Amino acid sequence: MIRPIPVAVVGVGKIARDQHLPAIAANRDFLLAAAVSRHGKVEGVPNFTDFESFLRDGPEAAVALCTPPDVRVEMALAAIAAGRDLLIEKPPAATLGEIETIAAAARDRGVTLFATWHSRFAPGVEAARDWVAEREITSVEIIWREDVRRWHPNQAWIWQPGGFGVFDPGINALSILTHVLPGAIHVQAAELEVPSNAFTPIAARLTMLARGRVPVHADFDWRQEGPQTWDITIRAGSDVLELHKGGAELMIDGRGVHVGPEAEYPNIYRRFAELVAARRSDVDTAPLRIVADACLKGRQVATEPFHD
Ligand code: NAP
Repeated sequence: MIRPIPVAVVGVGKIARDQHLPAIAANRDFLLAAAVSRHGKVEGVPNFTDFESFLRDGPEAAVALCTPPDVRVEMALAAIAAGRDLLIEKPPAATLGEIETIAAAARDRGVTLFATWHSRFAPGVEAARDWVAEREITSVEIIWREDVRRWHPNQAWIWQPGGFGVFDPGINALSILTHVLPGAIHVQAAELEVPSNAFTPIAARLTMLARGRVPVHADFDWRQEGPQTWDITIRAGSDVLELHKGGAELMIDGRGVHVGPEAEYPNIYRRFAELVAARRSDVDTAPLRIVADACLKGRQVATEPFHD
């Protein structure tokens, strides 16, 4: 196998610039070989404005798909057909049907597919999973409230069908939930607040049941100004585990527990290198299934129009 692994970043937007390019630059297993974006450019490598011409004329490279979810399926299938190993940003596709097709194509073609969930690499998450594994869990409470204007300025796609709305960050909480509490999680009820000028929710409240008996509540809201909240509280009788700041901080029974430094994207690329070397894939659709079920079972409520 070629080392370092040449990799092309596709969709040079916020997450590609903030995380993927620095993580690739810092990892000796990878070498940035190209960038593909209609407007964004990366210095020092060949740039392509469309994916087809990159696959046809560009370097033989693995692909890191950082475009919005609604435009992933065609690119993913084209990359797989061209025999490229593939890393995709969360959420892995706009629908369960699309990611199932992508995963089947990767299996048939024998390429590595890594459907990433960056929040699962937050420093407190593995310790939380170990804590949960040793206890009888009695409830879970998720509060994920942030300011959409601060984190998604001028991203029109998040309000369009297939853009996920508040589930774009909310699915990060669900990716932690489904990792620390594996097993069936059913949506019992959901309320989705959709601005009258948008197609996706600005807030969502979900009532779920895990393992047939554990109540799980999630409160996602994109209208929170000031301090931001990304908290998960897990109870096992009187024992309490709290993940704060999206999993960067861990508290057990009210006391802070030392966890490592934040390294979500460096760890994503470390894992991708391992998967490529082992010729394996890692695709878990559980978080996307909860969002799909919430949309199927949820009650929609029209709310005030949203303006960026
Ligand atoms: P973004 O800033 O809008 O970047 C996405 C890029 O994809 C755009 O700059 C655009 O570049 C390209 N693109 C291709 N087709 C597009 C289309 N039809 N509509 C819009 N853009 C298109 O979005 P992002 O925040 O980086 O998010 C991308 C993905 O990363 C999402 O799935 C998101 O959930 C995930 N993510 C984001 C964050 C974050 O903090 N923002 C964190 C973790 C994960 P060109 O116009 O140059 O083609």
